[in-house]
Amino acid sequence: MEEALTRQEILHSLYSMGVELPPATKLPDEALNSRLDDAIKSCQELPDILPSPASSTLRITSLGDWPSGRLKVAKAIDRANLGEVAQNSMLNPELQGSGVDVLGDLRYIVHGFADNWDQKMKAFFLNDPDDQQTLTIALRIVHIKRIDDSTPVLTVLYSTYTPEAVSLAEAWDDEQADPATGQPPTYMKTTLIQQKALLRILKFNSRYVPANFHPDRSALESDFKVSYIFPVGPLSFEALGKLNLDTGCAICGSRTVKKCSQCYSVGYCGPECQKQDWKNHKQSCVSVKGGTWRTIRVSSCLPGTSGMFASDMNQLASTRRPFGPMTQVDGTSPPPNIHGSRVFLIKLQFGSSHLYIYDRKKSMKCFFVKDNTNREVFDEFLVEMQRSPRVMHDGLKMYRWAKREGDWDLSVCLDKLPLETIRW
Ligand SMILES: [Zn+2]
Ligand SMILES: [Zn+2]
Repeated sequence: MEEALTRQEILHSLYSMGVELPPATKLPDEALNSRLDDAIKSCQELPDILPSPASSTLRITSLGDWPSGRLKVAKAIDRANLGEVAQNSMLNPELQGSGVDVLGDLRYIVHGFADNWDQKMKAFFLNDPDDQQTLTIALRIVHIKRIDDSTPVLTVLYSTYTPEAVSLAEAWDDEQADPATGQPPTYMKTTLIQQKALLRILKFNSRYVPANFHPDRSALESDFKVSYIFPVGPLSFEALGKLNLDTGCAICGSRTVKKCSQCYSVGYCGPECQKQDWKNHKQSCVSVKGGTWRTIRVSSCLPGTSGMFASDMNQLASTRRPFGPMTQVDGTSPPPNIHGSRVFLIKLQFGSSHLYIYDRKKSMKCFFVKDNTNREVFDEFLVEMQRSPRVMHDGLKMYRWAKREGDWDLSVCLDKLPLETIRW
């Protein structure tokens, strides 16, 4: 039984986190695995919550117990935020074939562990009886410690069983039944990819367990492994920006030195790979060549609102305290750049004296404000918008290709329409 994620499953997992590698990427397995490790680190916000240097171990016994009863672990372990709906909708339909949102499922499973702990259940049995190939995972929460008020950490013992060894797993299942009530471990139905993803995180996190830490275990648990479970959330825009930086040559995975000059959305190591890919790529290549490009200066808030308070700013900047207090509108920081120098789609919406501009992930939300210096360009956009097909009562809006030219300058292709159907 193969417990490791396959290459396709790694790509799928990365995609479910928002890391968009081309499905046919030739990046070597090693590079894919290290990108997944970086993503695993970031979705648990480990650089933020582990004592520095982040690579060192976490001395779990030096932490206090999570105060039982007072603070529900299930509530503290959830990492949610307002931007998620937008983020989830970007899942590639091609990769959705297997019907799995790997990261979302993982968060659901972690929530399940915490929720059961709150109800005094500590042992779990995970498999899918409908799937002949499935693994069985046995997992027991040893204790839950407190890193801070919003960050519990679970210490777990776990093992995997192949279908042939399932009687051993059942012996453990019996052993873990509550002596008072006879209640068996909590059963969680999980698909193989969900199990593999969980095992991947447990394996990754085990590097933080000090070698001299030996939690008490029963005889049946003698070869169980020890690991930690931290809260799991969506990747922040900062992490997404880094993870999406170099996605490699679409054919061979080497470092990219040139982009398709028509659409800028795919990169190659050189002309040979580009030539080889053309038969495939020409179907999706959207021609923006020959389009009229305008560079506009954007601002991160409307005039006069800098310094005011709002709750909808930088929603994915950090997920640790998702629904924190209202934050001050910061007109001085440029919108984050997760696209690098790539061409990406933006949506432009017309307001009386400005255009509101954002990308699909809402990583950048900015304004193009009409003033005396840009009246002509502003009106060009307005005319273009009035010509664009639109839904009745939906206001003036359009989708266009854009490219960051710097912190505050955005180059927008005025007159070439994206060919794909856009649903955001
Ligand atoms: Zn190449
Ligand atoms: Zn192209």
